[in-house]
Amino acid sequence: MKRVTLLGATGSIGLRTLDLVSSFPEEFQVTGLAARGSNVELIADLCRKYSPLAVALLDGGALDRLARILPAPRPELLRGSDGLVTLTRDVDADVVVSALVGGAGLLPTMAAVLAGRTVALANKETLVMAGSLMTAAARARGVKLLPVDSEHSAVFQCLAGHSRADVHRIILTASGGPFRETPRAKLAAMTVEDALKHPTWKMGAKITIDSATLMNKGLEIIEARWLFDVAPDQVHVVVHPQSIVHSMVEYVDGSVIAQLGVADMGVPILYALSYPERRPTPAARLDLTRVGQLTFYEPDTEKFPCLGLARRALEHGGVAPVVLNAANEVAVAAFLERRIGFTEIAQLIEWALDDAGAGSVGSLEACVVLDAETRGRVQRRIDARDGGRRA
Ligand code: NAD
Ligand code: MG
Repeated sequence: MKRVTLLGATGSIGLRTLDLVSSFPEEFQVTGLAARGSNVELIADLCRKYSPLAVALLDGGALDRLARILPAPRPELLRGSDGLVTLTRDVDADVVVSALVGGAGLLPTMAAVLAGRTVALANKETLVMAGSLMTAAARARGVKLLPVDSEHSAVFQCLAGHSRADVHRIILTASGGPFRETPRAKLAAMTVEDALKHPTWKMGAKITIDSATLMNKGLEIIEARWLFDVAPDQVHVVVHPQSIVHSMVEYVDGSVIAQLGVADMGVPILYALSYPERRPTPAARLDLTRVGQLTFYEPDTEKFPCLGLARRALEHGGVAPVVLNAANEVAVAAFLERRIGFTEIAQLIEWALDDAGAGSVGSLEACVVLDAETRGRVQRRIDARDGGRRA
């Protein structure tokens, strides 16, 4: 029986993970759940269904409401961002599924690594912010970082049984997002509703907007660099609208190994949970004769500047990836609140990167300070631009 702690239990990845736990009751048991606390009724339902030992909510008010709804005996209740860290550090678990969205996942995910727990990582932002620190900590403790992101799960599978020294490059596939066919001149007028219509994946709002700007693929380039310990210029991107080839590894002899499957996050989530074994995922099966055609082409980096900004941040290193991620999170939130236009997301990130200092980020504490400082800086710029107006 594997004991699973789940960060981001109420999200798209979190709920799919819990579905899989329900499908394999002999294999997995939920020990801890964490979420922001926006939907207390849902969290109470999850507690009744999965009986975790502990629950951590960022929102203290939500935790108090949960205590009133759930009669004793109830799980231990942990409060605030410290509570999330306590959950992953102190509550025994064999695997911590890191599926919070954004930089909020950094400290609890790192706490899981420091406690020596296997991490199934969906929360790519943490590796963008602190890839060097987190992979070094994992290596030092022999902790496995198992990718949940579909592209990285694909690469992980394509690397199995091969020598890292033989890898020529990693080729990440991108669906191209909802604006793949939209002319560049029309992007500025795209609304929140337009951007939330992803062609192949159903996901949380932030990653769906990141997929529309292609920042998601930019973050994934950085994620791949750290997860697989390759040079930045060894990570390439091709657009593949069908989302069937989840990514590829090209070896020095020219051989390319790909991983294919239907676009269902259940497959990479279950692989990370059951690794190194495989289980029969309750998901549709791939029938290539019904797919018919697989197409691939170069991404348009002029139309999607976020891809180039992410690459620039990775190559620059130091503070730049932290600044990139923080600026992106604030800009995406402002777009979702209809305070800025779609193309202003990339403009704000570029401004934040241009204005970022040099220097390195030597510790997690420094990373957290820089993250907060950048968020404040970008937020103030947004406030100044629209005079504090909210739509
Ligand atoms: P989501 O928005 O659906 O869910 C996010 C979860 O995190 C929720 O449970 C929410 O309560 C919690 N949360 C958000 N902010 C928090 C905070 N400050 N403190 C504590 N909890 C907080 O997001 P998602 O689509 O499930 O994505 C989660 C992560 O997985 C992201 O990093 C995303 O990039 C990655 N990912 C998602 C998919 C997907 O298919 N959804 C695919 C690959 C990678
Ligand atoms: Mg992905």
